[in-house]
Amino acid sequence: MNYGNIKFNDIANGEGVRTSLFVSGCTHHCKNCFNPETWDFNYGKPFTKEVEDEILKSLEPEHINGLTLLGGEPMEPANQQVLLPFVKRVKQKFPNKTIWCYSGYLFDKELLCENLEYADGKTHKTAEPHLVEMFINGKKQMVSRAHTPITKEFLSYIDILVDGEFVQDLKDITLRFKGSSNQRVIDVQASLKQHQIVLSPLNEKRNKDIPRRLIYNVKLAFW
Ligand code: SF4
Repeated sequence: MNYGNIKFNDIANGEGVRTSLFVSGCTHHCKNCFNPETWDFNYGKPFTKEVEDEILKSLEPEHINGLTLLGGEPMEPANQQVLLPFVKRVKQKFPNKTIWCYSGYLFDKELLCENLEYADGKTHKTAEPHLVEMFINGKKQMVSRAHTPITKEFLSYIDILVDGEFVQDLKDITLRFKGSSNQRVIDVQASLKQHQIVLSPLNEKRNKDIPRRLIYNVKLAFW
């Protein structure tokens, strides 16, 4: 896996002060994506053991609240493979710090897909880059390629998942942790326990400090 950037002391991507890792590779290709150069899986630099160690070191100070994974798409199958052992290390060393993850895939429909049973596991690529054809109990269905054998374990280390693709028409700059209003700030551990989506209270959090005049001017610019 490659990564495009690491932001230390980041206050924009999650609660409190965090280290944010921008991984490379994304197949969603949302219109007006804020980071299109990260769609390429080869963008940036290799995510090595030294980089992992540097991030772990950055999490040591007491005032650092945790780690945020974003991109790019952390939940692309190839990225999950690399990030799973890393998030395990982070949680083992810092059990009280939170891990946030931003993903264009939907938690319930595309990452967990718990209603699906894979009869033969045969998959076929389709024209849609994030869907695959799979035979499930003898029936051909389109399922998310992001639902892999390790996805549930990966999610067991995530505290907050901000899910859903960025939708330009639903863009709202007053939202504190989301780019567009279709996205959800999900309490992952509560959701896994209760087998239903539990939204974090942070889902509704807004940027109170944005002057009204600026919001008005931005809206005018889009009209
Ligand atoms: S999921 Fe994120 S990185 Fe990928 S295209 Fe959409 S906005 Fe860009």
